[in-house]
Amino acid sequence: MAANILVVEDEPAIQELLVLNVMQCGYRATQAHDAPSALAHISRALPDLILLDWMLPGSSGVELARRLRAEQRTRNIPIIMLTARTDEHDKIAGLESGADDYITKPFSPRELMARIRAVLRRRAPQMSEETVSLKGLQLSPATHRVSAHGTSIDLGPTEFRLLHFFMTHTERVYSRSQLLDQVWGDHVFVEERTVDVHIRRLRQALEPSGLDSIIQTVRGSGYRFSSD
Ligand code: CA
Repeated sequence: MAANILVVEDEPAIQELLVLNVMQCGYRATQAHDAPSALAHISRALPDLILLDWMLPGSSGVELARRLRAEQRTRNIPIIMLTARTDEHDKIAGLESGADDYITKPFSPRELMARIRAVLRRRAPQMSEETVSLKGLQLSPATHRVSAHGTSIDLGPTEFRLLHFFMTHTERVYSRSQLLDQVWGDHVFVEERTVDVHIRRLRQALEPSGLDSIIQTVRGSGYRFSSD
């Protein structure tokens, strides 16, 4: 699934340009014109990356970045700060607020896209198109193929995303709610039981290759992909 990018910018012309560039690169775009509307979007679904304007009416982009970094649910969303300022001091303040990268207006579409790709690759590897290999499993996002020890495995789209997320986030325990946020992009309208259903399907698909046990149930917490 294409990464969902939240574009937070109050100037309509720049907002439009950003959204156009983002969509031309095959990403999905959600728009917000200030901090409260950005927070409203984020409370419904976690974006995969935020393009955040420094100068917003009311609460600034820096304040919003700090607030997102302070909360557990939003702490890891990659943020690229946009600004008209070229001051080194401001650049440092932007990065200290928790932004992953920084881009100065006016920017070229090519530079913007290169930075988005680099940040996604670093911070959200499950959004990358690169093939992942682990424990005899090979998953290719570009061709949407999975194999175990060279034998092809048929997976539904949700199981595919779930496996991609796990293969790029091994060893850590994820709660059902965190998985809904990260894999479904929706923790409000999808029931937590749904996660169990898809985990069961994924395990069934991995069973013939004997790899089903790498998805561990952690009682009372959630699930973990263990490559041990
Ligand atoms: Ca602005």
